[in-house]
Amino acid sequence: MSLVGAGPGDPGLITVRGLSRLAAADVVVVDALVSPILLEHASPHAQVVHVGKRGGDDERTEQSAINDLLIAKATQGLHVVRLKGGDPYVFGRGAEEVVSLAGHGVEVEVIPGVTAGTAATLCAGIPITHRQVASTVTFVTGHEDPSKDGSAVDYAALASLVRRGGTLGFYMGMGRLEAIARRLLDAGLEADTPAAVVRWGATSAQKTVRSALDSIAGAADEAGLEAPAIIVVGQVAAIDEPGLDFYTARPLFGQRIVITRTRQQASTFRDMLTDLGADVLEAPTIALRPPEDWSDVDDALRRVGEFDWLVLTSVNGVEGVAQRLDALGLDARQLAGVKVASIGDATAEAIRGRLGVRPDLVPETYVAEALADAMIQQGVKGQRILLTRADIARKALPELLTQAGADVTEHTVYRTVLVDALPANVLDALRAGRVDWVTFTSSSTARNLVELLGEELALLANVKLASIGPITSETMRDLGLEPTVQAEPSNLRGLIGAMQEPR
Ligand code: SAH
Repeated sequence: MSLVGAGPGDPGLITVRGLSRLAAADVVVVDALVSPILLEHASPHAQVVHVGKRGGDDERTEQSAINDLLIAKATQGLHVVRLKGGDPYVFGRGAEEVVSLAGHGVEVEVIPGVTAGTAATLCAGIPITHRQVASTVTFVTGHEDPSKDGSAVDYAALASLVRRGGTLGFYMGMGRLEAIARRLLDAGLEADTPAAVVRWGATSAQKTVRSALDSIAGAADEAGLEAPAIIVVGQVAAIDEPGLDFYTARPLFGQRIVITRTRQQASTFRDMLTDLGADVLEAPTIALRPPEDWSDVDDALRRVGEFDWLVLTSVNGVEGVAQRLDALGLDARQLAGVKVASIGDATAEAIRGRLGVRPDLVPETYVAEALADAMIQQGVKGQRILLTRADIARKALPELLTQAGADVTEHTVYRTVLVDALPANVLDALRAGRVDWVTFTSSSTARNLVELLGEELALLANVKLASIGPITSETMRDLGLEPTVQAEPSNLRGLIGAMQEPR
């Protein structure tokens, strides 16, 4: 069994070893503070069990229930990964779990994690040690009531460390922030000792409040900061230099963006946005299904060598072709001698990655007309073209190619079906007015979103709308949605660029 530190919020902060254990797990047992995105890296067959509320009085019984679960799974011979927020041994009861498991003969490997006390502060622009001002850092649990006698926390000692420039980092202290500050002031710290609270550090919801120690509780309260947060006390809390704020300075930091691509497609787009600091909510409006019957596609792929061109218009189309070639016991050699055309960079990448083929033609823009133009320029008269695409694809491409004298054969390699409903988290965020952007990456996503919202379409009135290109924008206008920005060029990078432009 592996006890793995998941890091403090940003799913990119798990260790390499932790990630590889996660990918190999049969059972994953997760804490509340662990990023749900990390679970996408678990193997698809893994059973995921969510345990642990935040705070709560019955923690002890809950801990024993967690231990029982881990023991039950591990003794069945399953590879269990216990994912804990931050580092397993930093105020995480990780050692208790290990000891309890060892008592039942289960061997546990423990993989360290990035702890909130260092990561949340770093992302807030606060270096927790500093050669000139802070030579010590002390992590403290705020869980114990500082106003009660018998606390294991020695506030006089903490105050004396801070007086010499040391840093304190309190975990789990938000419920007692006022009492903690008072104890430190009573122990002799100056009222103007710098302090800070970093809420949801290393996530797109990160928020920092800085204040003097005697006013930090009020300031945090006013800003509405609640757990999870790290409370920093010491000179470093006042350091606020350019460059240290790299995390919040990212162009889309804190923007909540709804993306409407299908689940299969969403992750690259999501990752691009997340890297820029956005909080991305996925609202797939369509689900992809294989065609009812593959026989036409299979026939065409068996004799694909008779075609001059194979045209692939989406990542999903590439996936469909790759899977069928595989199912037929064929591979990239089947495409020898066939020229391959692609719409867009992402499709071209998939052609290289999934088919092992370098596309011969990739037009700059993302629309079918651009591809038709580029192919027609190369001369398509009398050429045999195999077009693999979605059931709902626009007719422009085959029509233009046929008009130019090409012999076009079209096959559906995937069907798109409308999902039943939008995910609850997306609807909640829209209803609460907590969405900054909705992105539209095709006409069908626009139509589908409108259909899924139904009578609640007005929820989009105060949201900025980003369109991938002219055709999608036109569809949006027909539906009564005015795009706030339109991508230029018409691809994901263009879309993300347009959202960053000052308005
Ligand atoms: N083992 C974890 C800590 C668990 S205790 C670790 O090493 O980080 C839970 C406390 O951690 C919270 O009350 C809060 O003080 C802190 N914490 C966890 N995630 C945080 C985050 N993203 N930002 C700020 N504090 C966080």
